[in-house]
Amino acid sequence: MHEMAITESVVEIVLKHADVAGAKKVVQVRLKIGEIRDIIHDMMEKCFRYIARGTIADEAQLEIIKVPLVVRCTACGQANREYISNYANMTCHHCGSHELELVSGNEFFIEDIKIL
Ligand SMILES: [Zn+2]
Repeated sequence: MHEMAITESVVEIVLKHADVAGAKKVVQVRLKIGEIRDIIHDMMEKCFRYIARGTIADEAQLEIIKVPLVVRCTACGQANREYISNYANMTCHHCGSHELELVSGNEFFIEDIKIL
């Protein structure tokens, strides 16, 4: 379970920004997380509740925006929506090539923070 460590750094960054902005309360935190990141969202939510307890972010709503896995075929140029279960063995849906590059799905960042 690496959600705890990741969530710890998220909360740390959120509190740092909130502090710099002179916030009294963090209302909402939105994260963008790519599908190939092995994150269990419910677990992350639980970790967030635990770590943020006693801070100005302890009632913040945590929203996780899931970014789909999309690859582009370098042989034919077509984009393919892929499923994580196929990740190890993906081929282009259009031409069958294995020459694929990642377009999205590896994201992990704080999209925005709402404060009071
Ligand atoms: Zn192709």
